[in-house]
Amino acid sequence: MGFDVLIVGAGSAGCVLAARLSENPGITVGLIEAGGPASDPDIAIPQQWPLLPGRDYDWAYRTVPQPGTAGRRHDWPRGRVFGGSSCLHAMAHVRGAHDDFRAWAEVTGAARWSYEGLLPGFRRIESFSGGASEQHGAGGPLPVLLPNAEVSPVVRAYMGAGLAAAIPWLGDHNTGRLIGVAPNSLTIRAGRRVTVADAYLEPVLARGNLTVISCALAHRLTLSGTRVTGVTAQIDGQVTPIAAGMTIVCAGAIATPLLLLRSGIGPARSLERAGVACLSDHAGVGENLHDHLLTAGNVYRAKKPVPPSRLQHSESLTYVHCGELSRPDGAPDVVLGCVAAPTVTECFERPAMGSAYTILSGVTHPTSRGRITLTGPEITDPPMIDPQYLSTDHDRRLVRQALDLARRVGHQPELAEWRAEEIYPGADCRSDADLEAFLERAVMTHHHPVGTCRMGRAAGSVVDADLKLHGFEQLYVVDASVIPVIPSGPIHAAVLAIAETFAADIAGPILGR
Ligand code: FAD
Repeated sequence: MGFDVLIVGAGSAGCVLAARLSENPGITVGLIEAGGPASDPDIAIPQQWPLLPGRDYDWAYRTVPQPGTAGRRHDWPRGRVFGGSSCLHAMAHVRGAHDDFRAWAEVTGAARWSYEGLLPGFRRIESFSGGASEQHGAGGPLPVLLPNAEVSPVVRAYMGAGLAAAIPWLGDHNTGRLIGVAPNSLTIRAGRRVTVADAYLEPVLARGNLTVISCALAHRLTLSGTRVTGVTAQIDGQVTPIAAGMTIVCAGAIATPLLLLRSGIGPARSLERAGVACLSDHAGVGENLHDHLLTAGNVYRAKKPVPPSRLQHSESLTYVHCGELSRPDGAPDVVLGCVAAPTVTECFERPAMGSAYTILSGVTHPTSRGRITLTGPEITDPPMIDPQYLSTDHDRRLVRQALDLARRVGHQPELAEWRAEEIYPGADCRSDADLEAFLERAVMTHHHPVGTCRMGRAAGSVVDADLKLHGFEQLYVVDASVIPVIPSGPIHAAVLAIAETFAADIAGPILGR
């Protein structure tokens, strides 16, 4: 079996590439995916998203115990299905701040990864409910809904409270500016989630030059010297070689470094410990793992029943500078989010639905860095995922500042109509030590792991400005793992823009479009 181009992983980035690269009828494109087509009807129902993790199309990863979070292990759901994690995610579409992408352009030396460079990709993705403009696209495959009347009344009151606390109005998270209060833009059409498989893959499945193979688990890359010639994958119980002129790995921030490591590409000492022969001592593979954490939460008992969300519960994100600790380049430091439901971690008792609402808080640019490593040479050996949450002073200080800001907003008169009393952290949680202990038990992942195959020129970077693996030919990585520094907001829009940009500016010209 062989293709001109082989894409490994039909997740968010993989579906974009399969659709865009197979537009060229002169090349054959293979797409392999460990899962299969989505069959769970709950995926399409936006309010059901918190219930999807743990179902049989979730890889269900877990971190190792985190000293910074009271020794807790954190569940990291990831989609194992056409559409990948876009089938599980919370549907918020947030590009990030203009200045977030300046860091990407700086580390690569390539203007295409700046906000201006990515803008054509951002526009190509979307069918924006507000219509086309210099910033927005209206003819793209993915609906981006900027809701208005659908926003929950408690979230409206929260947005008013943000303004009363001197946070500016923003209105739209997708113009390059990010400081302020806005309802979340969502990848929802006619009340239903649209996954990246729905938007990009489904409409092109009939193309004669595109072959999609489901339940195909890539074990290792195949190589001839430094030339990557494809992969071996388990298909119908058989380990099968698949040859390719160009191999593009899109298995995500966890599985992509694992595939490289199993293939002998990674830090030599860690490969040796896992019993894998080292082909290339590539120090950065699996390193630089970072993620957004959210504090769940600053929870309030409601004076009157909170109506069920008509969207996806978490309806507004607010981005703020935090005074002396703010970054000089203008991106926000902290984020708040309002959920029209009680949100807590496993450490706290959850109030009944309809009886409470939550203000989440978090740090937009965490400095804690961890790693992903192998525990053995086989695909069945569990990975070691260690994000090193809250391991820096910067992150611990800002997570506290973010919670303080959440409480300040939560106690504004604009929320008086809804607020009966604060449940968490609660009036008894007063001292710095109490609040620190609360935070360690209340933080949870915002589901944005990135950085494990980061792009750049410096030592430790894994792919170059063309997303080609340093030191190898014909192997590209296109997914959340290449993000060198996390953007301020949720990362899905950025992952899609990376894939759109790679298809148009890098793979397209190489493949002779
Ligand atoms: P994925 O979409 O995860 O795709 C990787 C694909 O590769 C998967 O289909 C996987 O099965 C396949 N694969 C892996 N290993 C192999 C292998 N060995 N062989 C073959 N196939 C393989 N982001 C936002 O912007 N907004 C949100 O609201 C939001 N909420 C989230 C909520 C949850 C619960 C989760 C899990 C994520 C959320 N995210 C959100 C993050 C966002 O969904 C991901 O960052 C994004 O989908 C990652 O895209 P990707 O292409 O890198 O990886």
